Amino acid sequence: MAGLNDIVRAPDERLSTACAPVETIDDATRALAGRMLEDMYAADGCGLAAPQIGELVQMIVIDVDYADGPRNPYVLVNPRVIVADGPERTTSEGCLSFPGISVGVTRPSHVVVEATNLDGELMRYEAQDNLLAVCLQHEIDHLRGVTMVDHLSPLRRVSALRAYQEALAAGARPGETAVE
Ligand code: ZN
Repeated sequence: MAGLNDIVRAPDERLSTACAPVETIDDATRALAGRMLEDMYAADGCGLAAPQIGELVQMIVIDVDYADGPRNPYVLVNPRVIVADGPERTTSEGCLSFPGISVGVTRPSHVVVEATNLDGELMRYEAQDNLLAVCLQHEIDHLRGVTMVDHLSPLRRVSALRAYQEALAAGARPGETAVE
C-alpha cells in the first residue's frame, strides 16, 4: 500500500477538508506515522500531511535534513502554529499532491509550532528563514484543507493549475516538481 500510489493527488475533496484532531496515540497512530514516512521518503519529499494519503486526521511528518545526511524524521500530532511572524518570504514550493509543478508562495519567515510527539509529549519547534519554516506552514495548511495554490492570486492559480494539468498529462509522478 505504501509508496507513490498511496499519495492523493489534486483535485481531490480530501485535500480541501479540515482534519480531526488525533484523540489518542496508539498503535494505529504509530502505524499511520510509519506509512506516511515511508511514502514521503519514497517520493523524495520533505514533508507529508495525513490527508495526502487520505487520512483526515491532524498529523504531519517532516524531514528537512536527509538530502544532506541521515534521516531525521519529525512526527507532529495535532500541530498548532503558535507564532507566525517575521518578514514575509517568497519560496518556490512543491507538493506531493501536485506532481510536476512548483509555485512561489509568500509566507511569514518565522514560526513557532507546538505539537505532540508519538510518545505523547508536547514539543515546540521554532524555525526561521529556512526550509523547516516553510515546510511546517505548508504541511499544517493541509490539515485545514489548504494547499499551496490557495495562496496564489486568482490569475496565478489558474496558470499553476493549467501547468499542473499539463504535467499530469505528461505523466508527472509525486516528488517531481518540474517536467523534462
Ligand atoms: Zn503539500
